[in-house]
Formats: sequence, C-alpha cells, structure tokens
Amino acid sequence: MKPARFRYHAPTTIEEVVALLADVAPQDGRILAGGQSLVPTMAFRLARPAHLVDINGVDALKRLEVAGDELRIGACVRHAAFHQPAVAGPLGKLLSAVVRHIAHYPIRTRGTFCGSIAHADPASEWCTVAAALDARMVATSVRGTRVIPAREFFAGIMTTALAEDELLAEVRLPLLPPGTRFGFYEFSRRAGDFAIAMALATYRVDGGKAVEPRIAVGGAEPNARRILGAEQAIAGRAPDAENFAAAAEAAAKTVDPMEDAMTSAEYRRDLVRTVTRRALEQSAA
Ligand SMILES: Cc1cc2nc3c(=O)[nH]c(=O)nc-3n(C[C@H](O)[C@H](O)[C@H](O)COP(=O)(O)OP(=O)(O)OC[C@H]3O[C@@H](n4cnc5c(N)ncnc54)[C@H](O)[C@@H]3O)c2cc1C
Repeated sequence: MKPARFRYHAPTTIEEVVALLADVAPQDGRILAGGQSLVPTMAFRLARPAHLVDINGVDALKRLEVAGDELRIGACVRHAAFHQPAVAGPLGKLLSAVVRHIAHYPIRTRGTFCGSIAHADPASEWCTVAAALDARMVATSVRGTRVIPAREFFAGIMTTALAEDELLAEVRLPLLPPGTRFGFYEFSRRAGDFAIAMALATYRVDGGKAVEPRIAVGGAEPNARRILGAEQAIAGRAPDAENFAAAAEAAAKTVDPMEDAMTSAEYRRDLVRTVTRRALEQSAA
C-alpha cells in the first residue's frame, strides 16, 4: 500500500523544526528521522500523519561528541555511527557491541539513535542502554528546552514523556569509567528480529567485588528499566557464577512480563532469567 496523503516539510535549523512542530503537531504532524519505523506504519496506513517534518537537513542535529563526562548523540545520528567505537573507553565498546543486534545493516544506516528512543519500542536495544545508563534526553520546543532523565522518560509501550510538539534533540549518555565491565545478551527468534528479552549489565570491580552495578532488562515489559533487586544481588559481591545466578533469579522474579499470541508471560520470565545470567557471564569473560 501507499501512504495516505501528507504535507512534507524540510527545515534546516532546530528553530524551524520546533516552529513547524508547534504549528502542525496538533494536526497529527510528525518528525521524520530515519523513517525505519514511521514509514512502514504509514505504508500500512497504521499511521496517517497529515504533516511530516523531515529533520535530516538540520546539520546541528548531526553532532556526535563528548562534552564533559557525557557522550551527546544528536537526533540525526544513525545507528551505524556506532559500528565503530564512537568514543574511547568502555562506553564506545558497549555501544558497538549492542548496535549489531539492531535490525539489519541497511536499516542501521538510516535509523537513528534518538528515533529509537522517541519511538520507545519495548524491544529497542537503545532504550535498554538508555535505561541502564540513566541517559538524559534533551527535549526542545518553542517553549524552551528541558532535560528528562530516562526513568521519567519511558512511560510504557511506545509512550514517552515527550509532548507532541517536542523534538528529542539529543540524548546524553554518561561516559563509563575505565575498567567498567559490560555484557549484553538478547534473544530473538531470527537474526535481526526484535528481541523477546534482553539484558545489559555494567559494573566495575574493586578489591574483587562488583561495584556500581547497573542491570537493565528490555523487551519483556512495556519499557526497559533497571532492575534494582538484580543489581543488589551482585553489589559488593564477587562477580562469579553464583552471584550472577542470584541476580538473574532476582530479575526473573521482579519483572511483570508482557504476553502476546506467540509468547506467554512465563516464557518471557524464563528468558529474562537466561538473558540476565548470560549478560553477566559475558561481562566476566
Ligand atoms: C525490519 C525492521 C527491523 C527492525 N529491528 C529493530 C530492532 O531489532 N531493534 C530496534 O531497536 N529497532 C528495530 N527497528 C526499528 C529501527 O531501529 C528504527 O530506526 C527506529 O525504531 C526508529 O528510528 P528512526 O530514526 O527510523 O525513526 P522514524 O521511523 O523516522 O520515527 C519513528 C517515530 O519516532 C518519532 N521521532 C523520530 N525521531 C524523533 C525525534 N528526534 N524527536 C521526536 N520524535 C521523533 C517519529 O515522529 C515517529 O513517530 C527495525 C525496523 C525494521 C524496518
């Protein structure tokens, strides 16, 4: 099928984007970033936006840079920008390890990091990264700019704290201290499919003990989130098989998994146990 009719806008500055959004968002105007989620839904007429605000011509949104202790990822930065480490140290390696799990190569050359965060699919790898690392989302509109922490940003299946006229201009990820270990594991039925469950774990080792652990689960619940009980199961303890298993058990017990025609909640709960344990094992490999 072909999309329903829409008006196409091609601004070249952030000011033009937010002015256009203020105007057209109430008439179901939408931002077009990589188009890898929006265009298929338009082709199926599941979405019929009357206006598309294409942000691909806005150079100020193409920045990918370190500022202070954060990596700033502009709204037009593609998934593929992370195939090679975008920054030295553990964060660059982590993002390179995760990006390979997103869809297929051609999709990664168009789809954007911020588009994934704004779209907030429960099975988005970047949403799991953002939840685990307590990313900060920079939302801009004609009313000004606000910074939204990840725990307040994700509000359910494809639902975020963004107002309809707000541009997610940038996502900020904290740089990870040297020596930070990480592991990422996801399960999907076929390579490139959306994950049914995934886990990301990071921590440092000090005196043989895991410190500052972060464990997030995605794909299993309406939105990715950190699982405190799992983090507590390894905090201050040896990063070994026994404690990894305890953390995985805590994650499985804590989640309230989604169900669908193909996947029961209990199956997803079992997967959460497995992906959490494997992510932790990978971190120690
Ligand atoms: C076959 C296939 C497989 C896929 N597999 C995966 C996968 O395994 N994992 C995964 O995470 N994704 C997957 N995707 C989705 C892909 O990663 C998309 O690129 C991503 O979800 C959205 O990014 P985009 O830049 O393409 O956004 P678009 O499609 O352009 O936009 C998506 C939505 O977000 C809004 N939006 C986009 N950018 C902004 C912004 N800066 N501010 C405010 N709103 C914004 C749009 O208005 C729209 O509503 C897959 C897609 C396809 C087609």
